[in-house]
Amino acid sequence: MKYLINNVKVPLGQNNNFSKRIRILTNFIFDEKDIQINRKALDMREHERCNVYSLIVSSDKPIIHKLLLEYKEESITFLKKKEEEILVVGTGPAGLFFSLVMLYRGVKVTLIERGKKVEERDIDCNKLLENGIFDPESNFLYGEGGAGTFSDGKIGTGVRNGYIKFVLKELFKFGASEDILYDNKPHLGTDYLKKIVKNIRNYLLENGVNILFETKLIDFDVLENNKISVLLANKDNKHSKVFDKLILGTGTSDVKNYSLLKNKGIEMEPKAFSLGFRIEHLRKDIDNVQYKGYEEKFELRASDYQLAYHGNDRSAYTFCMCPGGFVIPTMNEEKTVVVNGMSNKDRNNVNSNSALLVNINVSDYYKNDVLDGFYYRKQFESASYSEKYPYCVPVQRLGDFIDNKVSSSLGNIKPSVKRYYFKNLNEIYPSFIRNTMLKALDDFEIKIKGFKNPDSILSGVETRSSAPVTVIRKEGLCTSIKNIYCIGDGSGYSGGIMSAITDAIKVAVIIE
Ligand SMILES: Cc1cc2nc3c(=O)[nH]c(=O)nc-3n(C[C@H](O)[C@H](O)[C@H](O)COP(=O)(O)OP(=O)(O)OC[C@H]3O[C@@H](n4cnc5c(N)ncnc54)[C@H](O)[C@@H]3O)c2cc1C
Repeated sequence: MKYLINNVKVPLGQNNNFSKRIRILTNFIFDEKDIQINRKALDMREHERCNVYSLIVSSDKPIIHKLLLEYKEESITFLKKKEEEILVVGTGPAGLFFSLVMLYRGVKVTLIERGKKVEERDIDCNKLLENGIFDPESNFLYGEGGAGTFSDGKIGTGVRNGYIKFVLKELFKFGASEDILYDNKPHLGTDYLKKIVKNIRNYLLENGVNILFETKLIDFDVLENNKISVLLANKDNKHSKVFDKLILGTGTSDVKNYSLLKNKGIEMEPKAFSLGFRIEHLRKDIDNVQYKGYEEKFELRASDYQLAYHGNDRSAYTFCMCPGGFVIPTMNEEKTVVVNGMSNKDRNNVNSNSALLVNINVSDYYKNDVLDGFYYRKQFESASYSEKYPYCVPVQRLGDFIDNKVSSSLGNIKPSVKRYYFKNLNEIYPSFIRNTMLKALDDFEIKIKGFKNPDSILSGVETRSSAPVTVIRKEGLCTSIKNIYCIGDGSGYSGGIMSAITDAIKVAVIIE
């Protein structure tokens, strides 16, 4: 029998010695081998400074104690599905997990991806970082694993959802480190993500899934029998094929995908989103404030933060923080620059970064086209591109952003991206972004001393935190066209690796 015991505190610097701690709390003695970590969280409040554990203990005999709660392992069974020809488009987190669940339901899908396998994609991403060579079909957004591969790999478990445990176990099975199973802020890291994605690919292939890389969906038509005829293109040719169902896990990046949906009559509606920059500080400065100087003594991992400012008309917030991470150029279109953040598992880069975003309402951009949000964000992505410094990231010292002038030199914080140029980022967005950010920065400085350090680095532009449209879902989570489903971030119902995966699973289990 298994029991859960919560709130077992281990002061920093002490051995876990769970057996002894449980004995003190309950008088029951468990062997260390019968104790398993269910959840672990760091508590740095004064008088606490400990790791707080939830533990699962195994016992041969029934136990009655108010602190030992009976524990039942969650398990998910996937119902068998009738065999059908299903095309899944996109190998991002949503497409990969949709394909896995279909396999567990006994159906082998065809999975296509416009970009390359992760090993080849890695080379192209490095060419962009090192030499500014940008490939619009193989980059930090397109290719195996989608936008999730070269990411920080935070797999936020904030939203309670019955599939989270399952997803964590699958990720562990495919190569994630064990701590993700219990850490309250699980984090995969790009180095692990590359392995995980490759292992999932091999598993799908070994089990009969047909995976086609460098193959793009460019058109589809609904046939009289409600089957879907798709037109696929690779570098050599175009060919069409008929499928029973079409699953779009295409992410939020390509406006052409959405134009296709619009032209085919799939119902969508414009959605609020956010715009902003990345901000970089020295990791040690953030750690020092967050850990109150205890980070070195207890060898604490790089610290995160999450800040929000609510003004009368606008809000600003930090998003997708990458402790000990890097800023990377994450555009998918030529002559544009977009940024985001990534990190490896050890999160030990000298800087920490996060997105600093301001909310954008539908009324800010909507004229009469459901895709207006895409055109709106594109103008800022184009404005951050420089003909003189192709595919270099525009950066500015925070102090110069505040003073509204181009930086001429850097202070003690250097951009983590190698190829950058100086630009007055105030020239990119409408003034309400600057005005809201200035108020937010004052507020954030109170919350984290040094946040407004004038040497902090801003890089532009961060425009892709979520989709600017929602694809309307009808009965059975289908789009407005029978047998066509949109999953993950591209649908507008998720924003992040874990939510894209759980959204995909939700659709994969319901599909008949
Ligand atoms: C640098 C970076 C860091 C991030 N860090 C985090 C993080 O730490 N935590 C977090 O939760 N989220 C993070 N995100 C967001 C996260 O990556 C996304 O939420 C997630 O990848 C969305 O998954 P998805 O499968 O819906 O779409 P995507 O991952 O965007 O995958 C879509 C896939 O579809 C393919 N595709 C598109 N169109 C076509 C077509 N017509 N034909 C064939 N294939 C096509 C693309 O090439 C791509 O591989 C980060 C994003 C970036 C860019």
